[in-house]
Amino acid sequence: MLFVTLPTQARTHNYEITVSDDLRHVHVQAELDGAEVLRARQGRSSRLLSASTCDGKALDTRRNRIYPDGSACVRYTHRLEPMDERFRTEDVLTTTTSEWLWLPKLENDASVNIRVILPEGINAHLPFDPVGSHYVLRASPGSSRGLALFGTFTVAEIVLPDTKLRASLIGASGHEHKLTRWLTAAAKDVWQIGRRFPNPQASVVVVDVPGSTGEAVPFGHVIRDGSEMVRFFVQAESNEAALLGDWTATHEFAHLLLPYVREKWISEGFASYYQIVLLARRGVYSEEEAWRRLTHAFSRAREIDSPPSPNDTQHDEFWRVRMLIYWSGAALALMADAAWRAQDDTSLDTALARLGSCCLPSPNTWSGEALFARLDALNGVPRLQALYNRHADAPGLPPVEKLYPALGIRIGTNRVTLDDDAPLAAVRRAIMRGG
Ligand SMILES: [Zn+2]
Repeated sequence: MLFVTLPTQARTHNYEITVSDDLRHVHVQAELDGAEVLRARQGRSSRLLSASTCDGKALDTRRNRIYPDGSACVRYTHRLEPMDERFRTEDVLTTTTSEWLWLPKLENDASVNIRVILPEGINAHLPFDPVGSHYVLRASPGSSRGLALFGTFTVAEIVLPDTKLRASLIGASGHEHKLTRWLTAAAKDVWQIGRRFPNPQASVVVVDVPGSTGEAVPFGHVIRDGSEMVRFFVQAESNEAALLGDWTATHEFAHLLLPYVREKWISEGFASYYQIVLLARRGVYSEEEAWRRLTHAFSRAREIDSPPSPNDTQHDEFWRVRMLIYWSGAALALMADAAWRAQDDTSLDTALARLGSCCLPSPNTWSGEALFARLDALNGVPRLQALYNRHADAPGLPPVEKLYPALGIRIGTNRVTLDDDAPLAAVRRAIMRGG
């Protein structure tokens, strides 16, 4: 007799979302592949206008849950509330699915097929992966809040080999071409690592915030709630050189080189390292300027009184220790990168490119230790784990300056000088030139 163990089938739920003509409500029909309860991470029962089975039986919605009561088909209507009042525009309603998309728990390979019906003439930007004429939603780390935008806005494409990232441009009329060139340059910076964008399904939202500050790109952030999304606030009137010289977009796209990591100092540190390295590779910074910026940031991180360890920065006051949060991981990245390049004929670029191929985008929250173990294994030579064990719980910035003599970096006032006769000068140059 032959016994066959069948793999448990991944659950697939089917949702149809209809947005009302006045953009005030969503009507959702959910065909469920088994679910005891539906929840939205920030959903409140008080905002549910109705919830019933598809044959009209009212459902219990107490305690911010919908109980399908054994039914495989549920309908509900939810109010759409604007978020980000500060950036409210007349043409676009910005909402979050974390309030109005009520879902079963998405375990393992479970997915939701989503069809969206919009009013005539209305565009949407949603935190789901488009697949043909519908969308698919899978489990995600749930960091920040998934954005769902409805209204009239321009949709641009960031085109790289094997990748087309969708970008919605809000309130930036007349500046679309310039903004697309800026986003493409920054996405290409990150694409160069392994000649592959870490998540070809990621999308971008750009919101014009005229007259906010002197900077071309005052703020950007990555959202991993649903599909991965990067949002930028820009002064769309900025000239192209100012946009291309701004590091924000390269920093945010570089976040996608890693999965969502529990320790902020690691995710921020790696993105900070690459914002400088990649702008040097694009030619925005000279090699000297890139090293000057890195050493300046490291020395500012050293100025913090009684510094916590990188792992303890999370318990400290953010503004007091922010330079450590942004640069202690960068120090570790540089130490590993230099060692790999000098001794092992590999690099941090190589490890990250392999991580992208095997493991990204990842639905999970990773610990720093698990991430470093994986990167070390992918490169075949352990470097990051030992650095983590030595420095993650030791106070202050890891002692990255010890590398400087070998790399040929001399620190002066407000500048650095580079010595091409230093033993690791070729490693130093390769970091900022790529390859
Ligand atoms: Zn960041």
